[in-house]
Amino acid sequence: MKQREKLAEIHAGKREPILQITQLTKAFPYGRNQQVTAVDHLDFTIFRGETLGLVGESGSGKSTTGRTLLRLHEPDSGETLFEGFDINHLKANDLKAMRKHMQMIFQDPYASLNPRMKIQDIIGEALDIHGLTKTKEERKARILELLDLVGLHPSFAERYPHEFSGGQRQRIGIARALAVDPTFIVLDEPLSALDASIQAQIVDLLEDLQEKLGLTYLFIAHDLAMVKQISDRVAVMHNGKIVELADSEELFNNPIHPYTKKLLAAIPIPDPNHESNHDSIVKAEDELVAYKGSEFKEVSPHHWVYC
Ligand code: ADP
Ligand code: MG
Repeated sequence: MKQREKLAEIHAGKREPILQITQLTKAFPYGRNQQVTAVDHLDFTIFRGETLGLVGESGSGKSTTGRTLLRLHEPDSGETLFEGFDINHLKANDLKAMRKHMQMIFQDPYASLNPRMKIQDIIGEALDIHGLTKTKEERKARILELLDLVGLHPSFAERYPHEFSGGQRQRIGIARALAVDPTFIVLDEPLSALDASIQAQIVDLLEDLQEKLGLTYLFIAHDLAMVKQISDRVAVMHNGKIVELADSEELFNNPIHPYTKKLLAAIPIPDPNHESNHDSIVKAEDELVAYKGSEFKEVSPHHWVYC
């Protein structure tokens, strides 16, 4: 479906929220008696079938947000409703069942794949944990189906992670996440370790899979240019806060928060007549210092700014 139609449905209230996050907070101890609030009272919603981009510099709290949503980190406070159910107080068994619906794909496909396991066992492990296939034959058939889904040859099932390129490994990571038939996936900088040409192929694959399987994505990236193509809406994170959230095009054409402006100014622009990037970054940084936000407000329809 075209992005415009999808956004029209979201704005008309025709797409139900898949995740509703209220005041979600996670701090880590730091130094002796200090703590860093990596995720600071976040309020946002993710709608079924959309890709919400989450951008911000390294250390802004993006990964912690993704992990806390999935309860890979325990939140300190706040509410996460998944399909309307509060998942922050689930006990072990219910949490395991919930994990089947929510998966994560990581930046470095090599580090996240066990080098001593064959691809069929890396993918099969997810099936085994949740008891999703009953016989050996059924398990093998499902693994081959998943390899096919991510564009990998069936013979790859018998091979090991080191035999593959970065792009192929990321496809394996995607197949593993898809094994449990999830509805929501957090993608944590899934393209950052890949060459530009390979990045484009993985973006195409992710878009195809979203359409085919009705997936909802939270797509984390440190650079705005990367999320522009894939995201329907974009949230900008700075010091543990979402400082701005809007439709992708709106955010790029009409950024309001100085931090968003700073990120946008850092994208290289080929036009020599354009105001130099350096100047606009300096300007945005000055603005940011003077800027004090206090509340996440809807400043124009569907455009939220911490101000
Ligand atoms: P990002 O993904 O945007 O780079 P992170 O979520 O990884 O940011 O980190 C946000 C902040 O939380 C950083 O200050 C980081 O040092 C801190 N942090 C993240 N994970 C941990 C952890 N497991 N233990 C302690 N501090 C952490
Ligand atoms: Mg990160």
